[in-house]
Amino acid sequence: MKKKTWLDREKMMDKIEKYVKNIKATIFLLINTSKVLFACIVILNSISGVIITTKLYIWKEVIDAVTQVLQGSGEKKYDSIIFYLCLHFFVSAIDYIISSVVCYIQNLYGEYLDKNITEMVIKKISKLGLKDFEKTGNYNIIQKVNDFSLNRSISILNTIIQLIKAVASIAGTVVLLWKVNKILIIIVMLSNIPLLVVNNKIYDKWYDVLDKRYEKLRLIQALKGLCIKYENIKELKVFNVINYIGERISEIYSKNIYEDTITRKKFMYQTIFLYTMDLVVLYIIKLYCIIKSVVQRYSLGSLLTYVQTIDVLKNALNNMMEMISKTYEDSLYIANLFEFLEIEESEEGTLDFGNKINKIEFTNVSFRYPNTKTDALKNFSFLFEAGKTYGIIGLNGSGKTTLIKLILGLYNIENGVIRVNEKEMNQIQKRQYWELVSVIFQDFIKYPFSFIDNMTIADHNVDFHKDDIDNVVNIVGLSHLVENLPEGYYTNLGKEWKDSVELSLGQWQKLALTRALLKKSNMIILDEPTASLDALTENTIFNHLFKSNNKKITIIVSHRLKNVKGADKIVVLKNGEICEVGSYKELMEKKGEYYKLYVLQEKEVAKNNDTI
Ligand code: ADP
Repeated sequence: MKKKTWLDREKMMDKIEKYVKNIKATIFLLINTSKVLFACIVILNSISGVIITTKLYIWKEVIDAVTQVLQGSGEKKYDSIIFYLCLHFFVSAIDYIISSVVCYIQNLYGEYLDKNITEMVIKKISKLGLKDFEKTGNYNIIQKVNDFSLNRSISILNTIIQLIKAVASIAGTVVLLWKVNKILIIIVMLSNIPLLVVNNKIYDKWYDVLDKRYEKLRLIQALKGLCIKYENIKELKVFNVINYIGERISEIYSKNIYEDTITRKKFMYQTIFLYTMDLVVLYIIKLYCIIKSVVQRYSLGSLLTYVQTIDVLKNALNNMMEMISKTYEDSLYIANLFEFLEIEESEEGTLDFGNKINKIEFTNVSFRYPNTKTDALKNFSFLFEAGKTYGIIGLNGSGKTTLIKLILGLYNIENGVIRVNEKEMNQIQKRQYWELVSVIFQDFIKYPFSFIDNMTIADHNVDFHKDDIDNVVNIVGLSHLVENLPEGYYTNLGKEWKDSVELSLGQWQKLALTRALLKKSNMIILDEPTASLDALTENTIFNHLFKSNNKKITIIVSHRLKNVKGADKIVVLKNGEICEVGSYKELMEKKGEYYKLYVLQEKEVAKNNDTI
């Protein structure tokens, strides 16, 4: 039993420590976002808090003056009534002005905070490696940051505003009540602690509940996203999947609601009991004040003020406790942002490898993805040289894309070594390296920008010559399309956006290819970028690359074996290993794996042509 209490205390201290750390970091974030706005909010809310008690005090004077007039003691009291009433009006007006200014600042601050957090997150993402995204837990953190950080930091800002106001008004009421009874103040303050404890427990529990549910909630978001995506509508309609998805979503919601009903009921009983006890204590205190006022013959104004002051103090304390619990809850969520910002970044290489990629050499490289049991690439040794073209082929899962990712230096290698111009890939400056590389993946990005922006985004600082652009567009066969677009090259693309034009998948793919072809590079890599293109168009594009006689390293991954015929060397991958290497002629003569696959594919094509 003793051990449990000790463990509980340890756990509680740990929670408090984390809470303080997160709140400190959040305040730092708020100050960093705008020092001026933060200072304004602190000052204005402190004034606003003090005004609450100032108004109470002035009102006491008004009532005392009225009482004296009613008792017929002194004509001058009319002047006092007018004076204190004007003063009350003046202070109330200031209070309204401050509230409006705080509201204005609060909204503005929210926008700055949004901007600041977004910039911080994007900057951090740009520094993270592909591997960092794949580490267990990191992806969930990134998603949570995306989902909660902004709302929760705005919520902390609002809570801090309330908290400052509450503290200032508590200070004011304590000054007013000091003369009446000091012990009274302590009793009022202590009576709020049970509420704080219970509220924190409630928020803690909710965070745990939502944290455990997070994967499921993300699934709901993903399913909703599936249903509203334009390109999905066709399949969803024909397969009648929308209703099925709706049922899956409802199932999750129903389970959550059932669980929540039980927990919420439990908390409701607890809070009803506590608030009732709290009210009992409050009214005992009020009774005590009335008795004391009668015994000590206080004025009516004083009696009213003391009772009201206790109400204000109690409200401010309740508010403060509520706000502390709220910041506690927010801090649990915002902790994800700080955890995300603290993710250790892979060390950036510093080695200079020259201003051109001459060769990339793999020596006994083996690579395994995090949390997997087999190597995606095994004992791979190969030399890629400038001025040569390479075709990479293999069945699905044979390691083609993994090889491309390693050529691109997207992962640090632990087994074997990759050298760029004799310099170890792990240690070279990646930014410099990527500036010399052009790549297009199978899952290329459709940027919601104009046609021309989609073409030049990889080299967005370069001023391209119109002829170069026309030439590349012509190679991929998009000239006719551009001529027919409403704004030509400047037409915005994407179905979801206003005044935009949607392209077919094949057209998007060709557009992505122009991006790779246009970028001024030393190495061009096309990782099955032509899956949605017909064999003829793919052949034309590849032949252009094979015959363009440039001094680049050209690497093409394709499932159409015939189309990599023109490559100087074809690498055949099987289960992550090199199975064969050679020119088309050599591989066909060898009658090995490439030959087998080639013949099989040719037969397929012939069969399809017959059926057509
Ligand atoms: P290919 O491009 O030839 O289809 P990949 O290189 O994509 O093959 O994949 C090779 C192997 O590595 C496959 O078994 C695949 O499941 C695995 N793999 C690929 N990407 C990842 C990843 N991010 N995490 C874990 N395993 C992966």
